[in-house]
Amino acid sequence: MNELVDGKLAAQADGVAALPTANELDRALADASPMEIIAKALRIVGREQLAVVSSFGTESAALLKLVADVDPAIPVLFLDTGHLFEETLAYRDALTAALGLRDVCSIKPDQEDLLRDDPDRELWISDPDACCRIRKVEPLARALKPFSAWINGRKRFQGGLRATIPVVEEDGARLKFNPFANVSREELATIYARARLPAHPLVEQGFLSVGCMPCTSRTAPDEDARAGRWRGRSKTECGIHTAKIS
Ligand code: SF4
Repeated sequence: MNELVDGKLAAQADGVAALPTANELDRALADASPMEIIAKALRIVGREQLAVVSSFGTESAALLKLVADVDPAIPVLFLDTGHLFEETLAYRDALTAALGLRDVCSIKPDQEDLLRDDPDRELWISDPDACCRIRKVEPLARALKPFSAWINGRKRFQGGLRATIPVVEEDGARLKFNPFANVSREELATIYARARLPAHPLVEQGFLSVGCMPCTSRTAPDEDARAGRWRGRSKTECGIHTAKIS
């Protein structure tokens, strides 16, 4: 942590200054460990203002383990889109219990939005961006309203739009922390091995990245882990990380 950020935090503690900016935090935390980044996020905004957003997917347990080690009562938001695999819902419950997470909240789409825009549950075929908007982006925007910062588990090694993510960025009115931005695939595997974290049940069936059932397929050994998401389409992100959430 550099002097500028330390000074702002000290002043903030005295109740006389604003939060450090995303750019200041990004510079200060550029080489920090994931655990240090999570701990600083907690110190900067406090537990009541900080949320973790997790898909409880194939790589989620590593971030959730570190969050639980820092403070198991940090709120965790899970987007239950209505199109998830039963295995993901079971994994959410098993991991929550195993890690002792105390505040996991499942967020659902607005029923009126679904009845109006997706009554036959097939919007994902004709307009997947609109489907993601009513089932993911807008529900998350509503859920994040009480919070001033959020944490997610994206990594630069995932490539695409994620290859250049900073450690801390602005997301509308909020700070967004990416504590795994710098983490390598090998370091991620080490976290799983050391903590003996259970794998998502669909990994052994060939799913290296798991999202909604209609938009997730198995990946071949020579494919990128996210190649099975929205296969055959140009879409690579659901929108929660590309739309500014205000
Ligand atoms: Fe809809 Fe597919 Fe997006 Fe899930 S991932 S919200 S099913 S388009």
